[in-house]
Amino acid sequence: MKILQRVMDQVLKRNPHEPEFHQAVQEVLESLEPVAERHPEWVKAGIFDRIVEPERQVIFRVPWVDDNGNVQVNRGYRVQFNSAIGPYKGGIRFHPSVNLSIIKFLGFEQIFKNSLTTLPIGGGKGGSDFDPKGKSEGEVMRFCQSFMLELFRHIGEDMDVPAGDIGVGAREIGYMYGMYKKIRNTFTGALTGKGITWGGSLVRTEATGYGLCYFMEEAMNSRGKSFKGSTVVVSGSGNVAIYAAEKVHQLGGRVVAMSDSNGCIYDPDGINLDTVKQMKELERKRIREYVNCHPRAQYFEGPSGIWNIKCDIALPCATQNELDGESAKTLVSNGCFAVGEGANMPSTPEAIEVFLKNGVILGPAKAANAGGVATSALEMSQNSMRYSWTFEEVDAKLKSIMKDIYKNASQAAKEYNCEGNLVAGANIAGFEKVARAMYDQGIV
Ligand code: NDP
Repeated sequence: MKILQRVMDQVLKRNPHEPEFHQAVQEVLESLEPVAERHPEWVKAGIFDRIVEPERQVIFRVPWVDDNGNVQVNRGYRVQFNSAIGPYKGGIRFHPSVNLSIIKFLGFEQIFKNSLTTLPIGGGKGGSDFDPKGKSEGEVMRFCQSFMLELFRHIGEDMDVPAGDIGVGAREIGYMYGMYKKIRNTFTGALTGKGITWGGSLVRTEATGYGLCYFMEEAMNSRGKSFKGSTVVVSGSGNVAIYAAEKVHQLGGRVVAMSDSNGCIYDPDGINLDTVKQMKELERKRIREYVNCHPRAQYFEGPSGIWNIKCDIALPCATQNELDGESAKTLVSNGCFAVGEGANMPSTPEAIEVFLKNGVILGPAKAANAGGVATSALEMSQNSMRYSWTFEEVDAKLKSIMKDIYKNASQAAKEYNCEGNLVAGANIAGFEKVARAMYDQGIV
């Protein structure tokens, strides 16, 4: 980096101890160097300096009382990163690992992802270090209510519209929305991922996983490959992983492995998704219990073992930095020709390098998993219209959005002389639209 190294240095200096945020910014700025060369007016207007600094960050106390009557205190976050092209939009994550660095990396990525969807949404992200695992229904509800008792003043249907992420599904959105509605005394689309009977959009549950497969199918078709007849591994067994696996099966591929944070399962007969849904969506069980119902399947302790399983296509759908350089080499030597990132930043920089060097078709998270937020934006549209589209209508819109994202990312890569590099293409295409908007709107 020549022009943008100064911006990176400032990010490192101003945000110490935020490794995930540094990693996300570094990857984007590296791709944007040729854009900075072509647009000196954007450099002069400080677009690059401004885009790495959140417009607003809120950190707040979340007190609640557990089932034993003890007071618990968690920390809540909302980072409103960029509103140049629309209201802030991005999920809320509940996981014990959550800290400012993780929320900022996610919020930063969200700016470009949301821009790529072609819909008018800015970037933001939020969360808490609360761990829903092992908590009772009552505890989860009281926590969500306390979280919303502060968050409500920072969000709204035209201001900031949060959704789910790790640890936040339909149940948590329901409890948060209930409290939001009670305090505001209005029924508006201030959260997405709502229940279908109270403003949610059909396909929202499936959207990230389905969208990932639509994107990868498009990318693979351009190189004469497809899911049909392919062996696939999908890490994670949460919302994104389950619906990615479902679409792989519908497109004629066979998912043979899935995981959770404890370990992974391999089923030579193909993963039975009814079992996984029952275990994960209804019973909240560990993935190891899958082998109790499917005796030919095997369980391996430790989540990273999944990358040793031979496959044609890998879909990392669990969490950040789950796939490192060594795992990437193993995948390549086992013949893996495509990797689609369902999770946010699942591949380390070393892994990305291995994939790009070996000609693997790499669908970067910003582009490949944008189907979730795109469908959330469709939920916002339906809420504004007080109307709802059918499953088929939303699914058709999702498919067409994912095709457009692929087209825009691959065209940007071609235009900047890195044809086939969708990592760079997605960063550039996502950035250019936001940069134009920021430029037009002056120094704010
Ligand atoms: P969920 O909470 O539904 O599922 C997360 C899954 O990942 C769980 O199975 C979890 O296992 C597993 N997991 C967590 N850490 C690890 C690890 N270190 N190794 C292996 N597995 C692990 O979350 P989502 O499916 O919603 O999110 C998954 C990823 O997709 C995240 O990166 C998220 O940011 C991203 N994403 C989600 C979108 C959405 O619409 N939901 C949209 C775009 C991106 P365990 O139960 O053991 O914790």
